[in-house]
Amino acid sequence: MTKKILFLHGWRSVPGGVKSSYLKDHGYEVIAPVLDDEDFEVALATAQAMFDLHKPDVIVGSSRGGALAMNIESSDAKLVLLCPAWKKWGVSKALRANSVILHSRSDEVVAFSDSEELVACSGLPSETLIEIGNDHRLADAASLSVMLWVCDLLASGQQIPSIEGQNPSDGDASSHEEASYVCDACGEEIVIPLDLTEGSSQTYVEDCPVCCRANTIHVQIDDHGNAQVWAEPEQDYD
Ligand SMILES: [Zn+2]
Repeated sequence: MTKKILFLHGWRSVPGGVKSSYLKDHGYEVIAPVLDDEDFEVALATAQAMFDLHKPDVIVGSSRGGALAMNIESSDAKLVLLCPAWKKWGVSKALRANSVILHSRSDEVVAFSDSEELVACSGLPSETLIEIGNDHRLADAASLSVMLWVCDLLASGQQIPSIEGQNPSDGDASSHEEASYVCDACGEEIVIPLDLTEGSSQTYVEDCPVCCRANTIHVQIDDHGNAQVWAEPEQDYD
């Protein structure tokens, strides 16, 4: 059955933009209502009505739409928040488990630290916040691809991999210099070297050494040097 996503656009943005189209193009039924720009309460009522009508599996909220997603009654639907403007709009100051935030440290509209604060105040694990993208829009290829990956996981009842779980507790520095991912094509676990000088958020393509299929590799490294790595089949973004 086709999974449903309720997409809540940002302030002075429009439904049917790059992000909601991308989800639609990848097989989701996307409900993307027009939300009132001027009145948050009106927008909230629209979002609530759409949720009640469609009962989506996942709610994706961008910027002010992220604040809307946090403030509607949505039972156990999964939340994917793109640089949520929760400090500016709404009353909710906490996020429930199995929510995921995507945010760029270079965001010029909503501070990255707002999302760090939200995760910390909600008592959620650090993998809840994924640092990605170069700006507030998160419409670049890597951000779109990670957004889709998160939606796929949550819509199928899975969670994003724990960063803590991948890290030995002995604190051996050398353990941070490699990581592994599971090849999407053949299912083999592939160990890769990590280049910490390449930045905390890396995306590149490499051929699986076992089956030779090209994978897009995403690497996220947190402030403690813990790495989160995942792979997906290489795609054309054109
Ligand atoms: Zn493979």
